[in-house]
Amino acid sequence: MTAPHTSTPTVFDVQRIRADFPLLARSVHGKPLVYLDNANTSQKPVSVIEAVNTHYREHNANVSRAVHQLGEEATAAYEGSRDKLARFINATSRNEVILTSGTTQAINLVAYSYALPRLKPGDAILTTVMEHHANIVPWQLVAARSGATVKAAPIDERGELIVEKYIEMLTPEVKLACVTHVSNVLGTVNPVREIARECKKRGIALLVDGSQAVPHRPVDVQALGCDFYAITGHKMLGPTGTGALWAKREHLESMPPFFGGGEMIREVRFSGTTFAAPPHKFEAGTPNIAGFVGLAAAIEYYQSMGFEAIHAWEQNLLAYATERLREIPGLRIFGEAKEKEPVISFLLEGAQATDMATLLDLQGIAVRSGHHCAHPLMQFYGVPATLRASLAFYNTREEIDAFIVALLKVRKLLM
Ligand code: PMP
Repeated sequence: MTAPHTSTPTVFDVQRIRADFPLLARSVHGKPLVYLDNANTSQKPVSVIEAVNTHYREHNANVSRAVHQLGEEATAAYEGSRDKLARFINATSRNEVILTSGTTQAINLVAYSYALPRLKPGDAILTTVMEHHANIVPWQLVAARSGATVKAAPIDERGELIVEKYIEMLTPEVKLACVTHVSNVLGTVNPVREIARECKKRGIALLVDGSQAVPHRPVDVQALGCDFYAITGHKMLGPTGTGALWAKREHLESMPPFFGGGEMIREVRFSGTTFAAPPHKFEAGTPNIAGFVGLAAAIEYYQSMGFEAIHAWEQNLLAYATERLREIPGLRIFGEAKEKEPVISFLLEGAQATDMATLLDLQGIAVRSGHHCAHPLMQFYGVPATLRASLAFYNTREEIDAFIVALLKVRKLLM
């Protein structure tokens, strides 16, 4: 990865890229939309929208149940999406990729199917203070059922994980370690390889929440060395209700199914049911077929751009936005890690985050305000909420300028 720099990349035709995203052309409250809520959900390129549309117009049928032509086409498209995802994250096999409704379902699957059967009183699950609730609450639920506890590794004021502490907390009672690859609030990139190495030394499985990493950087689960990697499709240009859990084959083979129903069985008898092999063992019921057709198109979009170009552009925008925000008196930025993805949380002294977000919206600027599903992180910083501007490769410097102008206006109104 290249270091952040401030010169404008010349090869990146952002206007051409923006033309692929129809929603970016709309206005809000009579002002051109400036969409800076990409960590919440990304906008979708026309290729994704058309893929979903074409699926329903021309190929709609259920998967794996019909031998007729449409059933075969739908199954091929759905399974093709699994192939694309497997290659996208460099899984060793397509059978290691469970298609889910998103990260939340992926992590819950690990909680109930991997962790719960292994946990006993006195055991622990390790997570961190900077996690999204999706990487905290499922662990609390299974801990409560099994008599285990949930421990949280600390971070420092800059919003970096204190890695030595995390490693120190990998004690023998820890049965599963968890960490986010990239923080949805701070943008911090965590040293997953190093953490995975330490977990491996101690025989502890590692789950990585990749929700905020996959939209910005190439992910290679084999190189990372983790055991589980969870992603969500709607933050990476895909439809809502799509995502995946990648897990090492040995884990998937040992895990009992979480949901029961159609599609996941080999044979059902009242005397006992046998299950399909992974990944289908974990995919009960009719999936979001059209959604995964869209997700395959989203992956193709990333591949056509390449992460090198995306990363250079986004890091440039991040550096520029950070620099501009730092010029505003009374503005505090949360999250100043050395390695960040383009997410900036901030507060303006004396102003409520929600009031500011509402006033910014009136000027066409979409940012998120609130706790960002990270209560423990808000508690760490001693604030109830922050504003968050999160960028994507289709954002521009001009949009950042418009955001800063709007912010200065809001500041005047509220001061
Ligand atoms: N983890 C992180 C880091 C996230 O940012 C999010 C979404 N805000 C999630 C998990 C949950 O993703 P989903 O709601 O798509 O399941």
